[in-house]
Amino acid sequence: MDEAPCNGIPRVASLDDLVERDKDHDCAGFGPHHICVRVVAVADLPSRFGQFRIVAFWNNRDGKEHVALVHGDVIGALDLPVRLHSECLTGDALGSLRCDCRDQLEVSMRKLGAMERAAILYMRQEGRGIGLVNKVRAYALQDRGLDTVDANLALGFRDDERDYAVAAHMLASLNVGSIQLMTNNPNKIGQLSQLGVKVSGRIPHVMPATEYNRAYLETKATRSGHQMKPEGRSHLPEQDDPVILEG
Ligand SMILES: [Zn+2]
Ligand SMILES: [Zn+2]
Repeated sequence: MDEAPCNGIPRVASLDDLVERDKDHDCAGFGPHHICVRVVAVADLPSRFGQFRIVAFWNNRDGKEHVALVHGDVIGALDLPVRLHSECLTGDALGSLRCDCRDQLEVSMRKLGAMERAAILYMRQEGRGIGLVNKVRAYALQDRGLDTVDANLALGFRDDERDYAVAAHMLASLNVGSIQLMTNNPNKIGQLSQLGVKVSGRIPHVMPATEYNRAYLETKATRSGHQMKPEGRSHLPEQDDPVILEG
C-alpha cells in the first residue's frame, strides 16, 4: 500500500483554519496525476436532511468544484463515517427516476447527519465522470434501444471515468485520520486504500424501499453488475454501489 504523499499537511484546530492553512498549499499530489487540492471556503449549510458545514475545494486537475459536507468535529477524527457521492444533477436536483442517486444521497445525509461526526464528499463527477451533456446523450441512445455498453462506446467513453485521488486528498486536507466508508462496494475501499486513505471499516448503505422504487431497486440488487431500468432495459449505474434494501 502506498503511503499518502500528503502526510505533511499541517493539522489545524478547526475547520475555519483550513482556508488560511491552504493559501499556499502545494504538494507532490495524490495518484498518478499528482492531484493537489486546497480548501478555499468554509460555511454553514443547514439542510432539510441535517446540519452541515460545507467545505469548498480547488484542485489542480479537473477544474471542477468539489465540496465536502461536514457534520460535527472531523479534524483529526479516527473511524470517521464517510460517504462519497458522485454528482447526478438529473437525480439529485431534478428527481429523475432513471437512477437512484437522489435516494442514495438523501439517505446518506440523513444517516450521517444524525451521527456525532461524519462527512459526505460530493464529487462533481456527473454521469460517472463523462459530464451532464454526455450523460443525456447516453440516455438518448438508450431511449433508442442501445444498451449501456453500446451507448458508452458510441460516445467514445470508458465505462467509468472517475478518479478517487481528489477525494483522497480532500480527506487528508480535512486532517481525517481514518474512515469508515458508507458503501456496499468493497472495490471502492480498495481504490481509496491504494491512495493512502486508512479505511478502518465499512458501513453498509442500506436503502429504504418506497412503492415507487422497490421493484427497480430489487432488480438492481439482484442483478448487480447488470443493472436494469424498471421496464427491463439496462441503464447506466451512476453511483457504483450495489443497492441493499431494508425490509
Ligand atoms: Zn496537496
Ligand atoms: Zn443518477
